[in-house]
Amino acid sequence: MSTSDAIATHALGKHFGDLVAVDALDLSVRRGEIYGFLGRNGAGKTTTIRMLLGLIRPGAGEVDVLGRRVGPGTRDVFARVGYLVESASAYPDLTVRENLEIQRRLTGAPRTAVADAIARMRLESCAERRAGRLSLGNKQRVSLARALLHRPELLILDEPANALDPAGIVEVRELLRALADEQGVTVFMSSHILAEVAHLADRIGIVHEGRLLEELDREQLRAKERLYVAVRASQPDRAASLLAAAGFAHIERADGELRVFDAERRTAEIARALVGAGLDLTELSAVHEDLEAHFLRLTGGLQ
Ligand code: ATP
Repeated sequence: MSTSDAIATHALGKHFGDLVAVDALDLSVRRGEIYGFLGRNGAGKTTTIRMLLGLIRPGAGEVDVLGRRVGPGTRDVFARVGYLVESASAYPDLTVRENLEIQRRLTGAPRTAVADAIARMRLESCAERRAGRLSLGNKQRVSLARALLHRPELLILDEPANALDPAGIVEVRELLRALADEQGVTVFMSSHILAEVAHLADRIGIVHEGRLLEELDREQLRAKERLYVAVRASQPDRAASLLAAAGFAHIERADGELRVFDAERRTAEIARALVGAGLDLTELSAVHEDLEAHFLRLTGGLQ
């Protein structure tokens, strides 16, 4: 672990009976970065986050948060961490303001912190309402307000965009970016929706079946955007050899089609090579494969 890491896990694992929820996970989240922990439902994100926060005991491996080893009884370091986990719920019979006031006292934050958190999360109109009566989206805002209230150095957020409407998602994204840029707050956030983290995170870790499949920084994310020409023709094997013979060096087969890379300005050439050899050409189109497709392919959702 580098001393600059906000979170480091070492061969972290957890199983529930025969089910391996988290498998030999080595994560390192640098201070000041926004790290998107991306995976489909059931990938192991919540289980990982619970271990980071010391809420459940790892089955294997270790967790360091802000340079401290997390174990039974670790408390002090979590005063510097704000978190939102699925089960975090407010006291339903207390108002939003009262809920935040309890959090303020627990964390020793200054008196002004409650009003600040209410303003930050735009909760003014429901500050005096009982937390249990709020819409799901506003409950989520209360949970985020609680996580931010004591101005933590590190935010660990499990699906922070859950239940928020599109405008709320953008607001939270801007808020997290501002906290990272202006106050150097480190953000570790999980999501099952790539678009939610692709425009925000400095780095993304893709988790599937408890394992970290890939980590990508901004530049690598951009490089994953691929452009190819999709070709469907009778006799695909012959079509592939004809195109290779015509000088197309990078051809992949998928979904019953041929994907010809570095070819977007050479579609006429592709058509001539195939039709000229007597093949029927049923599709010829330029395709822009985005990150979503890459993510789905990696995690088994797109063949
Ligand atoms: P989601 O986006 O659906 O919340 P996730 O990536 O957070 O998914 P986890 O909640 O960590 O995934 O679950 C990982 C796997 O472990 C799932 O198959 C889940 O059913 C299982 N699991 C989680 N908690 C328990 C538990 N307490 N007992 C048994 N199985 C569990």
